[in-house]
Amino acid sequence: MRSQHPKSIQKLFPALGTLNAVTVYDTDTDTATAALTAVRERVLSMDQTMSLFRKDSEISEINRMAGIRPVAVHPDTLAVIASGIRLGKQTKGAFSLTAGPLNLLWKNAMKSGVLPDNDAVRNAGKRVRHGRVIIDTADRTVFLSRPGMMLDLGGIAKGYAVDVSASILRSFGIRHALISFGGSIRVLGESRTVGVQNPFQETGVSFGELDLPDSQAVVTSGSYEQQRLLEGHRCHHIIDPRTGWPTESGLVSVTLTGRNATVLDALATGAFVLGAKKSVPILRKTGIEGIFVFEDGTVRTTEGMNGRFRMSETDSKNLPA
Ligand code: ADP
Ligand code: MG
Repeated sequence: MRSQHPKSIQKLFPALGTLNAVTVYDTDTDTATAALTAVRERVLSMDQTMSLFRKDSEISEINRMAGIRPVAVHPDTLAVIASGIRLGKQTKGAFSLTAGPLNLLWKNAMKSGVLPDNDAVRNAGKRVRHGRVIIDTADRTVFLSRPGMMLDLGGIAKGYAVDVSASILRSFGIRHALISFGGSIRVLGESRTVGVQNPFQETGVSFGELDLPDSQAVVTSGSYEQQRLLEGHRCHHIIDPRTGWPTESGLVSVTLTGRNATVLDALATGAFVLGAKKSVPILRKTGIEGIFVFEDGTVRTTEGMNGRFRMSETDSKNLPA
């Protein structure tokens, strides 16, 4: 009976380096509680196995065994890596799971405030090789075939966690829900409207609204969250594997919408690296729509965003300063 259902039940929990929120609507309390607990457990287990920052994670073990031997992994880890490699090929390496050595170099540089020298960048760049990730699906193993290689799932894991959470909720018979992990969101059932982060403002300030019908997801990637000026260079956490430097594509954020949050997460990072012009053909092929925000505040959207995305300032194509 409808009247027995509370309007919505939400669970919040930290994992994957962000605060995750899952809200279910129109569900009885027992089902909601069981489903939300199952989601939380699965996502926490993904954090355990996929974190680069835990020494006992599967990813850390894969990285330690680079050039030595394959490592057996959980099916979730295998699935994320397999998708990541496929999407790496689609973006011609702009998105690369093997960007680990460069990501680490630049993370340390931003922490210490010292720009890395060219040799260090070149040396790290040599170990970025997505063609050298060997996946054995039958044995469920992953092998980095060169020493010094390092996987980093930071650009895709959250999207995968969103998709997995959606299927868990469905398996409990939940029809209406909103899953929001950092910048990755997915809707089940009734259409919802979400705000799109204004990259020039603090977290939570949006510059427009996007309608998300049943099963649709949205993911935003941007350089605005963690950035620092080092000796005149704007440094941030999305690295261009082709140059070894923090990406300079003229963009500050990319927001993508489509049916698969795993794909969107990887492609949002990849599109940020490639820039708007080069990524639009890739998006078109995969039925994904995008909103690109440029450094000068210009906003451009793909055609399919018409009618689904509304800027707060309707008479302007530029973001309010
Ligand atoms: P966020 O994690 O801030 O939501 P992204 O999905 O764009 O944003 O992921 C950024 C993370 O992805 C970085 O912190 C790093 O771990 C990893 N990364 C950085 N550059 C790349 C790249 N070119 N390809 C794949 N992963 C990357
Ligand atoms: Mg990403």
